[in-house]
Amino acid sequence: MSDESASKARYELVEERAIIAAHARGEAVRCPRCDVPMTSRALGGGSFGLGYARRRSWLLCPNCRRSVLFDTARGTRN
Ligand SMILES: [Zn+2]
Repeated sequence: MSDESASKARYELVEERAIIAAHARGEAVRCPRCDVPMTSRALGGGSFGLGYARRRSWLLCPNCRRSVLFDTARGTRN
C-alpha cells in the first residue's frame, strides 16, 4: 500500500466496481480518492470484422492519474 509512486497506480477492485457502476447509471463519476470529476473517454475500437463492435470506456482521474478501462457493451441491454 506504500509503493504507489513506484508502480502504476491503480484503484482497488471495489473502487473500480463503484466507478463502473456509477458510470453505468449515467452519473458523473468522481474519483473515490480525490473527489474530483473524472475524465471520460469512449474508445471506439474492436474489429468490425468480428461482427460486432466492442465499445470501451476509459475513465481517468486528472488528479491522481488513476484510470479504469472497461467494456461498456456486454451482451444485450435489459
Ligand atoms: Zn484521483
